[in-house]
Amino acid sequence: MTVTFANKVLAWYDRHGRKHLPWQQNTTPYRVWISEIMLQQTQVTTVIPYYERFMQRFADIQTLAAAPVDDVLHHWTGLGYYARARNLHKAAKQIMTQYNGEFPQSLDEVTSLPGIGRSTAGAILSLACGQRHAILDGNVKRVLARYYAISGWPGQKAVESTLWDYAAANTPDQRCHHYTQAMMDLGAMVCTRSKPDCDACPLQEGCLAYAQGRQSEFPGKKPKKILPVKQVNMIVILAAGQLYLIQRPPTGLWGGLYGFIETENNATAIAQQWQLTGYTVQTLEAFRHTFSHFHLDISPQVIITDRIPASQVEESRTAKWFHLYEPIEVGLAAPTTKIIDQIQRML
Ligand code: SF4
Repeated sequence: MTVTFANKVLAWYDRHGRKHLPWQQNTTPYRVWISEIMLQQTQVTTVIPYYERFMQRFADIQTLAAAPVDDVLHHWTGLGYYARARNLHKAAKQIMTQYNGEFPQSLDEVTSLPGIGRSTAGAILSLACGQRHAILDGNVKRVLARYYAISGWPGQKAVESTLWDYAAANTPDQRCHHYTQAMMDLGAMVCTRSKPDCDACPLQEGCLAYAQGRQSEFPGKKPKKILPVKQVNMIVILAAGQLYLIQRPPTGLWGGLYGFIETENNATAIAQQWQLTGYTVQTLEAFRHTFSHFHLDISPQVIITDRIPASQVEESRTAKWFHLYEPIEVGLAAPTTKIIDQIQRML
């Protein structure tokens, strides 16, 4: 049965699998690693332009390790989940010191790098080095949960471990790199989250979810929890066409990214603190940003003034002025970008 599953998947891959993705050309562990990290939580079509820009700037591990983290975060702006970028940077430095700049070749070594779990490590070593390792990313979880009708949310240890057992049992000895790519493609292109195209699926015969008409029940949903709501005012200082941005601490929420003043006070109180005279205040549309563990309701206000106050002309390491209409080459949190867009549209 095991061989049959893999053979069906491989035969499908030969005809329909993706073979022209940027990271499938000039394949190296570094190139595959970057793509795998970008592809976590993000679709292929979104990733491609980011990937190409990233590769142009950070062509290899050495370049990435030597770059300032701000530059790495800047190239990640828009992709979200910034811990991924910070971990890439940390891991590149670790590879330089611990492995002499060569990407490690064993599963244990690779999983010990920051931000690389078992599935990502398996994918890199299989796709770039031809080793036999199982993977279990979101796509593969969905295919296996449906094929074997495995109920329960894969975030639960027991469910995940059952899925790993099936993933490992089905991984073939030969052509593992094609099989790895095939399973990711099958999940992304055929066995999609909603409306799977079962008639185009090589696994239709034998798929329990299909046989029972229960595709939408697998994989089981994460138990819903009610997220707490927090509120913050974001105060933008726009002085002489320049925005005042502050870098957040390196760890935690939006770690290392730049954003506006966050406060419980309103714009007028901040203007007084700054001893501003001759300014206007504009209130922008409030919006909600949702993290995995809470909602953040953001109320942005802009203080517009003609000149940068003398006390703030001097920039510090973590507080800088950026021209509103020039590219901002540091990492920006999603709400920061959204507010800048609103201001550009307003003026
Ligand atoms: S038959 Fe349908 S549900 Fe089953 S694996 Fe294929 S696409 Fe997914």
